[in-house]
Amino acid sequence: MGQIINGKKIADGIQEEIRAITAKLPYKPRLDAILVGNNPASSVYVSMKQKACIKAGFDSKIHMLPSKTTKKKLVQLISKLNLDNKVHGILLQLPLPSHLKAFDFLKHLSPLKDVDCLTPYNMGRLFSGYYDFAPCTPLGIIKLIKSTRINLDGKHAVVVGRSLLVGKPLSLLLLEENCTVTMCHSHTKNIFDLTKQADILVAALGKPLYISPHAISKKTIIIDVGINRLPNGLLVGDVDFKKVSKKAAWITPVPGGVGPMTIAMLLQNTLLAARIQNS
Ligand code: NAP
Repeated sequence: MGQIINGKKIADGIQEEIRAITAKLPYKPRLDAILVGNNPASSVYVSMKQKACIKAGFDSKIHMLPSKTTKKKLVQLISKLNLDNKVHGILLQLPLPSHLKAFDFLKHLSPLKDVDCLTPYNMGRLFSGYYDFAPCTPLGIIKLIKSTRINLDGKHAVVVGRSLLVGKPLSLLLLEENCTVTMCHSHTKNIFDLTKQADILVAALGKPLYISPHAISKKTIIIDVGINRLPNGLLVGDVDFKKVSKKAAWITPVPGGVGPMTIAMLLQNTLLAARIQNS
């Protein structure tokens, strides 16, 4: 039986540390979220993030815009928040309604307030290795892997999924840890031949229960990023946890693995943004 990486417990510890630091600050960090339209999952995520902010002692406001919002209106709101000294972090909840393209708005967001690390400037800095902000989910994943206390140097990390939000930035962070990184995507041939070689396997493809025991080896640390709702309402990851946990060395559960860490890293980045802007 593999050991469980308890993301919820690790995230709770980080959030408690952030709360203690915040209590001593002469100002309140503030995160503002922009929610366009009424995507139910996005509404849940934004309200979870706001609750975490309040618990940490931050200020937080959600700006709700109707799904028919024009490009001009959204750019105006971003520009207003960029200039507001009380706002330290701005989060544009994705996905946007189909008539709005995320890149058209992310390029207007102040890199100093880009706590999700999605602006072209901050992504470029991440690529160069000289950065303040790293994206929340990949940052949380690195912390989860490090919680196992394995030495990452020279390990073979296989990342399934190459999205801008998870797979691509995670591969950069793993490279920085001196891992040898293999990136897989929907065009990868014989994918399970690759996953079987992994010391660290990150499943971030959004396909329920895709990784079975046959796809891994006994030494593998498994990080399950996927969040999938089955027709029966059950929430599962991209990994068949029940079966794979009997074989893997370490594994994160869903829920209670990567999800809570993403929120903890968002708070960490907002605190960092507030400190940079107040220094
Ligand atoms: P995404 O933008 O849809 O990207 C999915 C990636 O998986 C793409 O690169 C795609 O390849 C690849 N892929 C799809 N099917 C595949 C297959 N059969 N074999 C190999 N690769 C395949 O998704 P995302 O935003 O990265 O999110 C992935 C999952 O993580 C989702 O379930 C999402 O809900 C979850 N998520 C969780 C958190 C959290 O905090 N826990 C945060 C973010 C995302 P192509 O590029 O070739 O299309």
